[in-house]
Amino acid sequence: MTTRPVIGVLALQGAVDLHKPHIEALGGEFRAVKTPAQFKDVDGYILPGGESTTMLKLIETFDLWDVLADEFASKPVWGICAGSILLATHVTNPAQKSFARLPITVQRNGYGRQLDSHISKVCDYDVSFIRAPVITDAAQCAILASHEGQPVWVQQGNAMASTFHPETNLSAPSPMHKRFLDLI
Ligand code: GLN
Repeated sequence: MTTRPVIGVLALQGAVDLHKPHIEALGGEFRAVKTPAQFKDVDGYILPGGESTTMLKLIETFDLWDVLADEFASKPVWGICAGSILLATHVTNPAQKSFARLPITVQRNGYGRQLDSHISKVCDYDVSFIRAPVITDAAQCAILASHEGQPVWVQQGNAMASTFHPETNLSAPSPMHKRFLDLI
């Protein structure tokens, strides 16, 4: 792509603005998007971390399910933490609706409670696990990184998921943002 790729960070809820320096450091254009009119110009989506149940409620409230399903089907997507839960084919603890864009099973809050949130190195880069899910099945995906013996960063085709937040590291760009922009 010769023009700057437009990275749309779904801005219904969660950690949106912290992605801006990472995207801009890689020559991309950051956009916080939440309406169908804004979706049209997006070249790739980041579904940010936050609270997946709240995001689901807002998607229903604003009647965005079908338009987002179409957008995600046709463009590169990266789900982070709550975003990875929205992209999964199966969600447990408890089961909930998801876009089934990436063939993974995720167990919500798989590391325990808020007190079990932590910063750890993934690919030699400090990232935050914040009430993160655990990926319990990623057999059809490439495992890009593991942590404590479990996959935490996976990819299939142009869809990617990380159970951790790299955007909280102020040293931009993160290796995860770099891989995502390289996909576009
Ligand atoms: N625990 C949240 C959920 O289940 C995800 C947390 C996060 O995105 N940091 O949606």
